[in-house]
Amino acid sequence: MARGEPIELLSFRRTFALLILLVVVPSAGLSGFGVLAIINERAAVEKRLEGVWLGRLTTISSRVIAALDASKVRADPRGLVIETASGAVLSESGFTSSASGVQSDDKRLEAALADLAGELIGLPQRTVFFSVTAPQRTYLIAATHDGARVIGASISPKALDVIVKESSAGVVPQGEAATFALKPVTRAVPEGGLINRLATGVADVKEGVLGPRELASLVLPSPLHDFRVAAQAVGEDPVVEDSARNRTVYGILLGVFYLTLAIGVVYTGRTLYREARLSRLKTDFVSLVSHELRTPLTSIRLFIETLEMGRVTDMAQQREVLGMLSKETTRLSAMIEGVLDWARIESGRKRYEVKVMPVNEVAQAALEAFKTQRMGSKMALDVQLGEGLPEVEVDRDAVAGALLNLLQNAWKYSGEDKQIRMTVTPEQKGVRIDVQDNGMGIPRSERKKIFERFYRVDNLATRTTEGTGLGLSIALRIVQAHGGRISVDSEPGKGSTFSVFLPAARHTLRESHA
Ligand code: ADP
Repeated sequence: MARGEPIELLSFRRTFALLILLVVVPSAGLSGFGVLAIINERAAVEKRLEGVWLGRLTTISSRVIAALDASKVRADPRGLVIETASGAVLSESGFTSSASGVQSDDKRLEAALADLAGELIGLPQRTVFFSVTAPQRTYLIAATHDGARVIGASISPKALDVIVKESSAGVVPQGEAATFALKPVTRAVPEGGLINRLATGVADVKEGVLGPRELASLVLPSPLHDFRVAAQAVGEDPVVEDSARNRTVYGILLGVFYLTLAIGVVYTGRTLYREARLSRLKTDFVSLVSHELRTPLTSIRLFIETLEMGRVTDMAQQREVLGMLSKETTRLSAMIEGVLDWARIESGRKRYEVKVMPVNEVAQAALEAFKTQRMGSKMALDVQLGEGLPEVEVDRDAVAGALLNLLQNAWKYSGEDKQIRMTVTPEQKGVRIDVQDNGMGIPRSERKKIFERFYRVDNLATRTTEGTGLGLSIALRIVQAHGGRISVDSEPGKGSTFSVFLPAARHTLRESHA
């Protein structure tokens, strides 16, 4: 243990270190967990949104299929003409397929279907929609039997866009914006030479970075499985928006958590420190009180021994010894009374017997007691009791005791040439009693602390004067219990002035208002 370190402060440090450890370690873990949550946030939001979008895409895909099934077909010399129920033409290029192969004016379509001639013959009798992937393009084809041959047509991409648009009406709730498109599952291989392919590759990358973000896509059921319905975000990316909002909420919560944690730690630390200091002050107090009590007790014992041994024969001398004996016992009982008073105030057992009386009566009572106790000591005591002072409603003994303590301090903490002044002046709504001395004064940093229990300024004067550090704290409690307050003004080396404000008795206040 470090030398001179009071045990209470050491245990305070240990407890505080433990507190920090118990608080900081879990909160660091919690923050780490939060950081992980933020990292995973985007993936979680994406997953959640994907679920929502898949539901919507399933609706659209079944509507698209229903729209195709509801379309009307009629034979045409070149193949089939497909129209919607309202008469809009869906077909692009017609074709005919027989045992000799597929014929179409659209040579690309012809090439795309060339390998399927055999399979087309095996199609069911009704009109069938299916998808075909050729190197340059993915086709949506409608085909039906026409006698021995099969006739059909490809559906135009524009017409498909219209169908998808109509099918997506009302799927997305208001406030959310998205577009839908029917896209090939595999990308078409660009036509032409190397340069053309490179240009297409660059355009693809650009679209991936700058173009609308694809939120989700769903492959259409077979035999349309070369197509997928894709949902694309319009405007702000909802994933970014959602995860940014979550991050902000998490950041704010974390901030609030750390703020309350910091307040809690500071508050607990302060309370612990105060308790540790109080506990040390109490220990000091016990030794101080024992020491203070020992001095008058030793004197009393010496006086009694002197009388007992019959050393003092002279009547006058005997009277003098008895006088000193009585003074010491009075001092002793005053000290014990002080300690008991403090204990009563601390435990809330102190009862005040308040009566309305002139303030001068209280001041006089304090002065009388002071003069009796300091009888014969050299000092200049100046008392100025003002005129027309209001009455106060107080427990005379208690308030006089508080004033007496101020007078005693003025005496104790002044040098040889003691000049003490008590002034009583009227104030707004009450009265002020000043006790002024020309003593050593109190440094600014100590002025608040001297009202704390057991506190004594550490200087030569307090080491050589009797005292427990309780006087001012008792005085403050008494004055506050009467609705008043105490303040101190001081100039170190020149003196101090303690001012007690007491409110006027209620009936006096009423009279002055009338
Ligand atoms: P005590 O006088 O028993 O030490 P108090 O509570 O009355 O206890 O005073 C607390 C401390 O305030 C004193 O120890 C002293 O250091 C300081 N003090 C009080 N009154 C004066 C004063 N008039 N002049 C200088 N210091 C004072």
